[in-house]
Formats: sequence, C-alpha cells, structure tokens
Amino acid sequence: MIIPFNKPLVIGTENGFMAQVLESGHFSAKGPFTERCHQILQANLEYKHPLLTTSCTSALELAALLLGIQPGDEVIIPSYAFVTSANAFASKGAKIVFADSQKDHPNIDEELIEGLITPKTKAIVALHYAGAPCNMKAIMAIAKKHDVKVIEDNAQGIGSTYQSKPLGGIGHLGAISFHDTKNVHCGEGGAILVNDETLVERASVVWDMGTNKAAFRSGKVSSYGWVDIGSSFYPSELNAAFLYGQLTQLEAVTEYRMVLWKQYYDGLAELSSHGHFDLPQLADGTSHNAHTFYLITKSEVERQELIMALSSKGISSVFHFQSLHKSSYFKEKHDGRELINANKFSNCLVRLPLYHALTTKEQQYIVDQVRNFFYK
Ligand SMILES: *Cc1c(COP(=O)(O)O)cnc(C)c1O
Repeated sequence: MIIPFNKPLVIGTENGFMAQVLESGHFSAKGPFTERCHQILQANLEYKHPLLTTSCTSALELAALLLGIQPGDEVIIPSYAFVTSANAFASKGAKIVFADSQKDHPNIDEELIEGLITPKTKAIVALHYAGAPCNMKAIMAIAKKHDVKVIEDNAQGIGSTYQSKPLGGIGHLGAISFHDTKNVHCGEGGAILVNDETLVERASVVWDMGTNKAAFRSGKVSSYGWVDIGSSFYPSELNAAFLYGQLTQLEAVTEYRMVLWKQYYDGLAELSSHGHFDLPQLADGTSHNAHTFYLITKSEVERQELIMALSSKGISSVFHFQSLHKSSYFKEKHDGRELINANKFSNCLVRLPLYHALTTKEQQYIVDQVRNFFYK
C-alpha cells in the first residue's frame, strides 16, 4: 500500500464554480466569488470582518502593516512555529522574541509571555497548533494589561472554537490559510480576520493597495485614490471560486477528519499508555478541527527510525517545525534562552497521514505498522 502524507482536498464542485468565472469574464479579484467566500466566513464561521488574501503569510504581513510594526518594535512569537509566522514581522524590522511551548503541547506557554514583555513590545502571535486553541483568555488579558495587540496565526484552525468563539476571531487580528495542505484550500490562499472594530476600515484600505476603492464602490466618496500604505493582498476570482466549493463543505470535511483523528487516537492509546510515545493533549473545554494527527516519540533517533520504518511500508509521515530560534537565519540573533519544549517538539513530533481521501482501511494499516514498529 502506498499512502502519501497528504492528498489535497477535492470536493468535485470546484470545476463548476470556476467555469462560472470563465463565463463571466471577471477573473481578477473582488468579484462575486470573493464576496460569497466572505459571506460564508461571516455566516457559517462567525468571523465579523474577513478579507481573502493570497496566503496566510500575506494575511500576517497585512497584520504587520496594519499594526505599523517597524524597526525597534518587539513581537513575541512561539519558537515552534512556521517560518512566516515570524518572517511577516521580522521583514518589517521587528525584533522577534521567541517564547517556549507548553510542556505538553506545542502551543505557546502563556505563563511565559508576561516575562517577555518590554515597553517596546507591540504584539503577541498566538499560533493554534493542529487547530487546538492556545489559552486565549490568559493571552488576551495579558495583552489588555500591557496594551499590546494579539494576532492569531490560525493557519491550521478553521472550524475550531474556543469558549464557543471561532478560532481566529478572538485576537485583534487573525489569519487563516487555504494552502493545499490545510483542511480546505484553493491551492494557495488565506484570509485576514479583523476582529478589532477600530482596525476594520483601515484594513480594507491596506488590503486594497492603500486606496479607498471600497469607500468609492459603496458611494461614500466620488473618486478614489492613494490614501495610505498597502499592497495587493487579494486572490483572483478563480481561486475564490475554487475555495467557495470547498468552504460550503467545511462541516462535513471536518466531521470526517474527526472520525479519522479519533480512530488514530483510539488505535494508539494502548501503546501510548505503555509509555512508547505521547499522544496529543487537549486542554479542558477546548475542541479542535483534526487538522493534524501527531505523536511525540521519546527521542529524535527513535522518530527517525519510525519514519523510516513507515516509509519502508509505503507510508509517508513527516516532522516539522524546526524551532525558529535555532534556525540558521535567527540563531545568532536569539538571546540565548533555552526553549526546551520547543526543542522537544522539533526533535520528536511526527505527523501521520490525515486527509479526506484516506480510507479507514488505509488508516488501520498505518496504525498496524506503528504498532509493529513499537512491538518489534
Ligand atoms: C500553513 C501555515 C502558514 C502559512 O500558510 P500559507 O497560506 O502557506 O502562507 C502559517 N502558519 C502556520 C502555523 C501554518 O501551518
């Protein structure tokens, strides 16, 4: 059996929606499908002010522009993160201050954040690993106390909730990814979620090249022009049409992923209880969207052996992220603090195949091969 790590989701309706774009002749951005995606994100996911972007990375860059991040500012980010979670801010000249993960979970350890805040701190990035929520209550309280902004890197977490609020809809700003490795996608794509009402109007200007076209279209001004900084952040209608086909099916997609996730968990619980590896831990009262199923081995060597053993059986499993404080770009800039939990997840976390087209039979085969490895 050959089982890839990921097969990008295909619903089957995407073609039809993209054909409508061909017929209409409206290929560039901000057309009817962009509008329909915004409406779904508002109505089904309860995001108040979503704007589609070309990626989660560009949504994070929009956030950095919107918050006026500049040289001299500091931004607190978990080290166990995606490159662009940090690069969106580093590229604006900010000093990145890396925080460690929780002991039992890759998410940022909220108890460490306050000790990293200085008068120069402008923002905290909360990354919801595997679509499982950070402790947003604590993070928002710290942000309020120190008057800094919170950006949720919710690239992985569409469909998850935290205290009945949609993940990505809690911080001042949120970002989601529609990359083809995510639960729903359009190849490359994303969205920024503007939750802080004071940022809404300006966000639409920065999104739209720094022009007041939105005000022009809604008749508020008689002509539009260059009014602020900004860039071209929006995707074409072709991408939006593809995404629309997927967003309409988000609930069913998440449901099936949860089935697969739970079967992994149940199938591997016994091995884990015998101490062979750790399974994902969930904080009380939180849910997730089954973006990723992972386990944490006892050592880096064992992880490599497991990946090789699965590979020899046709199963592709992968690890990530490299702790950013140890990356070649950043290691000289890091202040020397040991981030032991981030290092542990960097060295020992391995992700198993989890995608909509994975059958329960294939999944059983994967579970069997993991068992064989540990009972060898
Ligand atoms: C996938 C991912 C990103 C980047 O998303 P793109 O849409 O590819 O830019 C950022 N952060 C996290 C946590 C991710 O998983």
